[in-house]
Amino acid sequence: MPNIFSKIIAKEIPAHFVYEDDYVVAFLDISQATKGHTLVVPKQEYTDIFEVPEELSAHLFKVVTLLSKAIKKAFNPQGLNILGNNGEAAGQTVFHFHLHIIPRYEKSEITFSLKNNMGSLSTEDYRERAKLIKAAL
Ligand code: 5GP
Repeated sequence: MPNIFSKIIAKEIPAHFVYEDDYVVAFLDISQATKGHTLVVPKQEYTDIFEVPEELSAHLFKVVTLLSKAIKKAFNPQGLNILGNNGEAAGQTVFHFHLHIIPRYEKSEITFSLKNNMGSLSTEDYRERAKLIKAAL
């Protein structure tokens, strides 16, 4: 069964589109977490970033950059978050890969709190983690 974003892309469900090309669309997130909150979505259905081909990511990020600049021009936010939730554990709720562009007008509008674990890690822990990532490339 097509997911909600595929239905939007197929124009079976309405959305406020701000961009479209052969590979990618962008439309306003229905929640409008902040004014101008936009989703950038590949037309092809990929569940999450783990399925996305790198060439498509390169194009998608180009569109994210273009739209970020347009949103800055349109609304003059003080900042902007680019967010991707991949997998339920990361907060993904629509399982069709997408990136959020969230313009920020005040720091207090949204709180992302990242725990800082540096106090409990040794240099060897960092070295080992970096080694595992590099080995997996
Ligand atoms: P996720 O949590 O998967 O990263 O984000 C999914 C986003 O899709 C949410 O921010 C939610 O507001 C948005 N969304 C869900 N359903 C619809 C819809 O029917 N139309 C639009 N425009 N956005 C939607």
